Amino acid sequence: MPLIFQPQPTPTIAVADSSDRIPVRRIFCIGRNYASHAREMGSNPDREPPFFFLKPADSVVDDNTTISYPLQTKNLHFEAELVVVVGNNGTQIPEANSLSHVWGYAVGNDLTRRDLQLRAKAMNRPWDIGKGFDCSAPISAAYPVSRVGHFNQGTIKLTVNGEIKQNADLSELIWSIPELISILSHSMELKPGDLIMTGTPAGVGPLVPGDTCVAEIESLGSCTTHIGPRG
Ligand code: MN
Repeated sequence: MPLIFQPQPTPTIAVADSSDRIPVRRIFCIGRNYASHAREMGSNPDREPPFFFLKPADSVVDDNTTISYPLQTKNLHFEAELVVVVGNNGTQIPEANSLSHVWGYAVGNDLTRRDLQLRAKAMNRPWDIGKGFDCSAPISAAYPVSRVGHFNQGTIKLTVNGEIKQNADLSELIWSIPELISILSHSMELKPGDLIMTGTPAGVGPLVPGDTCVAEIESLGSCTTHIGPRG
């Protein structure tokens, strides 16, 4: 089949200690999945049903990348998150089977143009422009479940220029990983290479050109992002 354009390269994330890469299909993100962050964003953290938004697959960038300060924003924020790598197809997955669909885990940073997100939110408009911009998904090398197991606890923290900004525990997730996988798969079929960014704890804040931001999860790894000059 002749293609009118040369297709863009398949976006990928790294695999730890390997030259293999994981092809990325979609990036699902969970809003407000830690009570402390829901409160700081002015929401009621009671177990409201989880809601999802997406970033484009090609917004991923590797650990230790320098990204340009994004266009159009004056308030770029960091958000440390545990990332689930989906390893096999599944639809309407029962919660008890959810974890069998996980290939592995990585550490991510749900970079957000907070001013654009909040403006969209106030007008009941989609968040895409605030969340799904170029280079908005720094993600560390992923580890397979065979090496790191599954995560229902452990420190999740983030530093900017060495100063701790976020410091919480994965046990504080309102919706657990098995619950999120099950719920999401009741809306659409999950496929290999889908990533799920599971939400961020309290403490989100701004990044400026020259900053170095490190998101870290205990027993998993870290994801460093350097903020370069305005793009
Ligand atoms: Mn987030």
